[in-house]
Amino acid sequence: MRETYGNPSSLHSMGLRAEQAMEHARTAILSALGEIDSATLLFTSGATESNNTAILGTAARYGKRRHKIVTTTVEHASVRAACDALEARGFQIVRVAPSEQFTAEFAAQIDAETCLASMMLVNNETGHILPVAETFAAVKRAFPDVITHCDAVQGFLKLPFRANDLHADLISISGHKLHAAKGIGALWHRKGVRIGSLLYGGEQEHGLRPGTEAVPLICGFGAAVAELHPTLAARRAHCADLRAYAIEHLTSIAGVQIQSPPDGSPFLLSCSVQGLRSETLLHFLAAHKIFVSSGSACSKGKQSGVLQQFGIPRDRADSTIRISFCAENTIAEVDALCDQILQAQTTLIHK
Ligand code: PLP
Repeated sequence: MRETYGNPSSLHSMGLRAEQAMEHARTAILSALGEIDSATLLFTSGATESNNTAILGTAARYGKRRHKIVTTTVEHASVRAACDALEARGFQIVRVAPSEQFTAEFAAQIDAETCLASMMLVNNETGHILPVAETFAAVKRAFPDVITHCDAVQGFLKLPFRANDLHADLISISGHKLHAAKGIGALWHRKGVRIGSLLYGGEQEHGLRPGTEAVPLICGFGAAVAELHPTLAARRAHCADLRAYAIEHLTSIAGVQIQSPPDGSPFLLSCSVQGLRSETLLHFLAAHKIFVSSGSACSKGKQSGVLQQFGIPRDRADSTIRISFCAENTIAEVDALCDQILQAQTTLIHK
């Protein structure tokens, strides 16, 4: 904002410096995804736009001849709603539920009519890790022309993966899950994969996302990624310890049930507290400076139905909070959380 204020499309030296700063960030992110040469990165306003671009852009490009999309029942709202919009326009959307046979069931739905397969890497409400690599490998083996898209927002720099290993053509990521600013994200796309553009205008981002780039946000995103990339293993281990400690202490509280799988993401823990509605507990905790969310923050307390898809009954879903861990959290903070849940039970539950 202060030193490199130029417009990256401008031809003068100030513009050039802004362009170089932006390309530096792009390279840092591509390198954290394990790909510099075989892929490109499109900067967006966040993963909501990345997911919409991937889905609507693929439909725009290939949807005339092939109008089937295979996805899952547990996607983030930005994938679900984009698919719903296409369904209203006549696309066939097949939504596969999580199960033991998920990969085979998902792959079996793909056929010559399918233009897109879209699934997330880590579920944002429970931390379940989905078998993206093996599922997309099966999809590509049978139908190499199907575009594969992965919403990797909750996995990028939290789970070690290289973009190529996922067998995805398109990958969505978001800055604010990595301590970068809100309002910046990216869509990784394999070179040669063509999708339609949602916006019309200039030639920025190869015409796929015209409009002057958000240089400060992009540079911040690049800096966050460059800083977090080398610390992935250490952050993961720290959060795994915090999560294990939280599970041990939360389960010793009567009425608390853990809903995340033991082998889920170390950065996320979903639990329910019997007799307390999510929002009531959330506000009680916030008053003690403990900030958790109810289900998915994006739905502002409204239930998405995703918890039920993972077998969590409605009444427990109503009492669910989602705890997120990062490298800066401490065991003392987990202790404080457990203490305040106990406090909430004594104060708010009328026996
Ligand atoms: N996908 C997942 C899995 C998410 O958790 C989120 C946000 O929380 C998004 C997409 C949307 O990202 P953004 O807030 O950058 O639009």
